[in-house]
Amino acid sequence: MTGGSESPSFSVGHLDGEFELPPVDESTLPDLYLDFEVDLLAPGDGVVTDRHHASADRYEADDAMNQIRGQISPFTLSGWLRHGCERVLQIAGMTACHPGEPNADYMRADVYDRDLSQGYHEKGACVEAGDTDAGCVVYELFGGFGDKPGELLRRPIRFSPVRSQVDVLRGEAEAHFRQLHTQVRSRNDEDGGQPLRHATRDVVGNVEGTWLLSLRSLNPEFVGLLLEAVSLLNSKSDTFEFQLGGARNFGAGIADVGVVNPLYTEREIRRVYNRAQNATTAMQEKDDEWRETYREEFTRALQERVSGADGKLDAPIDRPEGADEGERGDL
Ligand SMILES: [Zn+2]
Repeated sequence: MTGGSESPSFSVGHLDGEFELPPVDESTLPDLYLDFEVDLLAPGDGVVTDRHHASADRYEADDAMNQIRGQISPFTLSGWLRHGCERVLQIAGMTACHPGEPNADYMRADVYDRDLSQGYHEKGACVEAGDTDAGCVVYELFGGFGDKPGELLRRPIRFSPVRSQVDVLRGEAEAHFRQLHTQVRSRNDEDGGQPLRHATRDVVGNVEGTWLLSLRSLNPEFVGLLLEAVSLLNSKSDTFEFQLGGARNFGAGIADVGVVNPLYTEREIRRVYNRAQNATTAMQEKDDEWRETYREEFTRALQERVSGADGKLDAPIDRPEGADEGERGDL
């Protein structure tokens, strides 16, 4: 890693082969913006809001005019992205670091062992097995035990219902918070539809904006894994397993997600979210350049990292080999 005012450069010494990567100072890297759209997100405890203090005496639970801001927890977001990354490795025939500690108190005794036979290795086992302390790509990106932070910095998404207060360059989104109150009613005829219990649910609607990710070290295979994981999450967004908050937490949301072209300037990124403006010719040219050259190179770096000299990363299960090659490079 480089420090000071020097712009960071890609670290490729550990990979075989040469890669045609974009100039770092002409890209958003080491930052990546995820374009994020969710119609309805109910992530359980994954939302914090300012409704108790900022709205104070003006807050009415059922008033649509409450302008509540808040954050979507990075834990919810991270678990979802990590799950996509694990799956990409598993599709490639690798195992990924299990996200849980082996001695944790699992509700079902055999759940950990079962996971180990289905595409996971014990958390950190990759470090003990290797001759460096690097571990597998998931271990490096998301971190391991206590003293090993991930190379991927994951922030919360800050949201506001007021579009003019949303800064997409800071990983913010327009979204509308509501606390839903529901009477769960009996369906038994004898009860005549009596309420059984009252349920309260925090939800965020019409989420639209960015999630800002930053890499602490600029390894091209990290970028490759994130690109493939985001592509997988987007194409599988309606399956329960890949819903945001669906696999390991309560609640869920179907997220349309993509990586904002890292070749865009800040002005161009803002333009993506300006409903009054379309993409410029320069942006379209950058899209072509990204799709035709750089995206494949990052994926190739991932292939190189995970499969050794002559291995090959298979096409994701949702996009079988030869089905539609054009789809693969889409942002
Ligand atoms: Zn591992």
